[in-house]
Amino acid sequence: MNHVIQADVCIVGGGPAGAMLGLLLAKQSDLEVVVLEQHQAFQREFRGESISQGSVAILDVLGIMDNLKQHGYLQVEGLEMYDKGEKIFSVNFHEFSYEQKFIIDLPQPVLIGAILDKASGYPNFHLKMGATGVELFEEQGLIKGVVYREKSGELVTVNSSVVVDASGRYTRIREMAGIHAKIDHFKRDAVWFRVPRPEGWESATRIKVDGHQHLIILPTYPDQLRVGINIAKGAYQEFRKQDISIFYDTVCRLEPQLDGIVQEHIQSWKDTVLLDIFTAEVSQWSRDGLVLIGDSAHTVSPILGQGVNLAIQDAYELAPVIIDFLAKNPKTVMPQEAFQSFQLRRQEFVSFIQGFQADQEKDLMAETEEDMSKRRMKMQMLDQSPMKVELATKMAYGIFRESLMKVY
Ligand SMILES: Cc1cc2nc3c(=O)[nH]c(=O)nc-3n(C[C@H](O)[C@H](O)[C@H](O)COP(=O)(O)OP(=O)(O)OC[C@H]3O[C@@H](n4cnc5c(N)ncnc54)[C@H](O)[C@@H]3O)c2cc1C
Repeated sequence: MNHVIQADVCIVGGGPAGAMLGLLLAKQSDLEVVVLEQHQAFQREFRGESISQGSVAILDVLGIMDNLKQHGYLQVEGLEMYDKGEKIFSVNFHEFSYEQKFIIDLPQPVLIGAILDKASGYPNFHLKMGATGVELFEEQGLIKGVVYREKSGELVTVNSSVVVDASGRYTRIREMAGIHAKIDHFKRDAVWFRVPRPEGWESATRIKVDGHQHLIILPTYPDQLRVGINIAKGAYQEFRKQDISIFYDTVCRLEPQLDGIVQEHIQSWKDTVLLDIFTAEVSQWSRDGLVLIGDSAHTVSPILGQGVNLAIQDAYELAPVIIDFLAKNPKTVMPQEAFQSFQLRRQEFVSFIQGFQADQEKDLMAETEEDMSKRRMKMQMLDQSPMKVELATKMAYGIFRESLMKVY
């Protein structure tokens, strides 16, 4: 028989969503919280490194920013979009009226490490590394826990009132629970690479568009740029058969300032990483005893780096729901209804982000001269619109705009 652990909450996945929820529950209640993470360490390549302003404010309130400051991070102060080299849109984050004005950029393992470091100070927080959730423990339609496999191969069952699936874009827990996701593959993939940041490069995200191609250039801690270039869906393997000079030509046509740097630092296709861009829409985020958060509930496109933001903000909204319910109904399997208002509140913002990203992607893919000129006009109009800062504020701070006003 499996070894059995008793807990109140079992979180599968120690990414930004799972780590943050674990911290909030351990800090704000006496609930016994177990976080399962399949990896032994949090080293990960090319994951969300830009943390939006609303999440920075949450990290600040929780006292985590002090730890991050000690490590060091990069402050991103604006966003600029160029069409054929001409600036057609920009947002200056100095214009935001909240205290946390800037995106911060730092390696994801540092962020997760700082959150878990804080959480490990609470005796009711238990992190299991190298622990892979392999099965849901279900009785009469109620999810009552998770079976996980330790590195040694031993199986352990965690009995809990609620299982939180925070296991990311490739979640298997969602499938085990029979929850359907509508997966929508974008018509294009992205190829990512890193190069050193040229001297004097301003601290702003750049989107460089020319015809149907674009680059997203993100200043990255400590002295690099993360660059994403779009390619046709499924074309990466074909690309890799071609000479790398084709890649250099496309990158340098879109961003002449990278000429010389990209040739020096990207010597072969091996220095690039493919990102399969898809979105996942889930209409039901919970069952009796189970709730989904982060990428597992809503994978979004990497345009405007919102994945980490959504994950952290999901955790921030879900923690009081679990704490309130289990304070009134200890040791009870949380029913699906208990998660409905959480889902509704979060879905409103997630839908806004997904809609905005789909719109952006459609515009960036413009093939005809007419569509390209419409895109240009649209961005130029938005640039002049009084709505610009309001829209950017909504994106940056999420639904937390009002509550942040109270916090500071
Ligand atoms: C190339 C790339 C660039 C990105 N850039 C940005 C960016 O700049 N800004 C931004 O905001 N977002 C960005 N994102 C998105 C962002 O990384 C994700 O949205 C975010 O990490 C989601 O957090 P999460 O906690 O939901 O899931 P994840 O970060 O995926 O964490 C899930 C965790 O669960 C673990 N896990 C999975 N299955 C199991 C299991 N069965 N048992 C135990 N553990 C399990 C995984 O090992 C992982 O640690 C990017 C994504 C990619 C792929």
